[in-house]
Amino acid sequence: MLEIAKSGRAKCRKCKQAIGKGELRFGEETVNQFSDSGEPSYFWYHLACAAKAKPKLLKTDLEKYEGEVPERAELEKTIAASAGKEKPSKFPYAEKAPSGRSRCLACELAIEKDTLRVAIEREVDTGSFVTKGAGYLHPKCAPEFVEEPEGLLELVKANSTSLDAAALAELEAALG
Ligand SMILES: [Zn+2]
Ligand SMILES: [Zn+2]
Repeated sequence: MLEIAKSGRAKCRKCKQAIGKGELRFGEETVNQFSDSGEPSYFWYHLACAAKAKPKLLKTDLEKYEGEVPERAELEKTIAASAGKEKPSKFPYAEKAPSGRSRCLACELAIEKDTLRVAIEREVDTGSFVTKGAGYLHPKCAPEFVEEPEGLLELVKANSTSLDAAALAELEAALG
């Protein structure tokens, strides 16, 4: 959400600098596990920082905001430039492999650079503790590996908003 900062105490989550009192700021709603009242709490950002770090969320909020937004055109340019680079935040998603180093969880063969891969969340045992991280699959290997292959294509499509039409067609052929 967008609001005028009521105090100058909040720090921007991206650049760690204070957000000035009276400045229009962007709040990303987060679940506050220490609050019983269910009151949402927010991570605050300077608008220019949010345009880089949270382009999609900021875009939605800018569209809803009826007040004056300083340098709106400049912000929209930054949002457009950042949106394509934003990593999907939800699993499962699909992306072009940035390197040839990942291995498919199902067939254990390497996933070639610049080819599509499906990322799923999985538990990773580091030896001292178990954490969650991304695991990767060839699209054609994904249906047999995941627990619920029926809804996989829809989920992946919903979470992978930066894919082009050719990539989507490839996904549909492999997962559909
Ligand atoms: Zn900032
Ligand atoms: Zn595979």
